[in-house]
Amino acid sequence: MPVTAHGLPADIQDQALLVLRLAMRALSCPAAGILSLTSEGEVISLRTAGAVPALAVATIREIASSENGVILEPPEAGGWSIAGIPLSYGSARNDVLVACSSPGDPFDDSQIPALRDLADSACAMGVVSSSPVPRGMPGDTAGRIEAARRLNTLIGPDSAQRPRSLGLLRIDIDHLARLNTHHGWDVVDTLIAQVATRIRTAVPADSLVARYGGGSLAVITPTDLSATNTRSSVVAILKQMNAPFIVGDLEIRLSVSLGWAMYPMDGDTPDDLRSAASAALSQAVREGGGHEQRANVELTRSYRAARTLEQDLSHAVHHDGLHLTWLPTIETGSETVVAFEALSRWDRPGHGPVSPDLFVQCAEEAGLIEALDSWSMTSACRAAVGWPQPLRVCVNISPVWLSNGRLARLVEHVLQETGLAPERLQIELSEHRSFGSSRIAHQELSRVRAIGARIALDDFGAGFSSLNRLGTLPIDQIKLDRSFVQRLGGDFRVDEILGATLRLASALGVSCCAKGVETERQLAFLDAHGCDEVQGFLLGQPVGDRLMPLTA
Ligand code: C2E
Ligand code: CA
Repeated sequence: MPVTAHGLPADIQDQALLVLRLAMRALSCPAAGILSLTSEGEVISLRTAGAVPALAVATIREIASSENGVILEPPEAGGWSIAGIPLSYGSARNDVLVACSSPGDPFDDSQIPALRDLADSACAMGVVSSSPVPRGMPGDTAGRIEAARRLNTLIGPDSAQRPRSLGLLRIDIDHLARLNTHHGWDVVDTLIAQVATRIRTAVPADSLVARYGGGSLAVITPTDLSATNTRSSVVAILKQMNAPFIVGDLEIRLSVSLGWAMYPMDGDTPDDLRSAASAALSQAVREGGGHEQRANVELTRSYRAARTLEQDLSHAVHHDGLHLTWLPTIETGSETVVAFEALSRWDRPGHGPVSPDLFVQCAEEAGLIEALDSWSMTSACRAAVGWPQPLRVCVNISPVWLSNGRLARLVEHVLQETGLAPERLQIELSEHRSFGSSRIAHQELSRVRAIGARIALDDFGAGFSSLNRLGTLPIDQIKLDRSFVQRLGGDFRVDEILGATLRLASALGVSCCAKGVETERQLAFLDAHGCDEVQGFLLGQPVGDRLMPLTA
């Protein structure tokens, strides 16, 4: 039966041709086309590139009903094969994307992921009028609700007949923020749809695949699926992510982290099963991405403890449950106090004091760090305004502020609200953490400096690319890491490194503060080598407001 050329509306002809050319490139084949089967049972051609052979109605039907793409073998040895995938998910019309191999060079199943990406691109580019969200793939909020409903029906308190087993899989696309930064939201939305499509091909047909929002998805397996078979699906999902994703003319590689839990072994209520799968997912993410992790008792217990810690911390941050202590900074030459560093403290009700290292990390992971740092900066500046002498006030800020592009605005706002002179405020950013894009970090720190506040690179020498940052970022002070200072006098290499760093800082016009000074010997070395300022228990421990020598 000949293919009838009906064409597509003029406004999407170009996009359609682009998709076809991409298909020919991705599958290294001479022809591709968008064909359709009308309700009258006629095969029509909407757009072609290269010579697409006439295809039978049965062939189009087979492709249209395949959902996830199909490779059709050549009718005889040495002939061409067809790779096809439906385009109009759930619509009445049967549009399909087909690619035709060179004679004697048939396609194989490894080309299906690329085909699926092309179908998703066609949807995203508006070539297909229907929704790019495949059947059984509810959108973000709907996905969560539907997954909750399914779990409740199957294993909730009122469930009539509980299954023998059931798997819940939680899947997160790794480094989503970076993908968003590099490619933008539109591309990432298409990527998430493609990831979902690939997941659907890796799990049993009756599974529910649901979007949880962002780059997070969940799968509820069919009832009675064994742990062994669930694990096979898990492995298949990870394998599906190996092939690159194609969005427009981009070829993108990504990985996912996957946590999974089995009913009833890992959790026998919807809540318990969800916690167990989330705990396993957190662990998989911690392992750096591209991993799977099954739930276990220990992971679930510590996950629950972390969630309670987050809730308590959130309450403390938003309801005045934190306070500051003050660590003096001494000018080495004059031995006078020139600054106080504000250090947050949290006395957790029912538990006692929590180490700042622990709760700062918890705040970063729980999305509370902006609230915590805003509180500490505002409280510190407000206190400093009341000091009888105009000493510097140093505030620790998480480097996540650099990537969110809001640090300068916060500084400006706090200075305005408290009336502190800008040059009295020093912002400290720890080297232990990534600063994200150095271009954005530079831009944000320059803005802070333009306001008049100072910037210190904290824990210098212990973290990420110290010299690079020193050479590129606008910095007023480096604070030498405590671990170096404490090894002074014990290892000649440490003495050499510290001596050289002090000379380097002086040559660059950057002031130097040594942290963690605990002995007279360390102090004498630092003084002799021109270290401008020192902090440490030898010179003063952090003190609460009431013991502050400066409180008016
Ligand atoms: P940091 O900026 O390095 O602060 C100095 C830390 O070293 C403080 O620990 C202080 O008690 C300790 N220290 C000072 N001198 C000595 C010494 O001679 N020997 C020893 N062994 N330790 C000394 P702390 O209070 O536990 O703070 C830990 C970290 O928590 C701080 O390290 C800072 O990076 C972070 N932090 C504290 N408050 C905040 C905050 O409000 N926001 C953010 N983002 N981070 C904060
Ligand atoms: Ca600091």
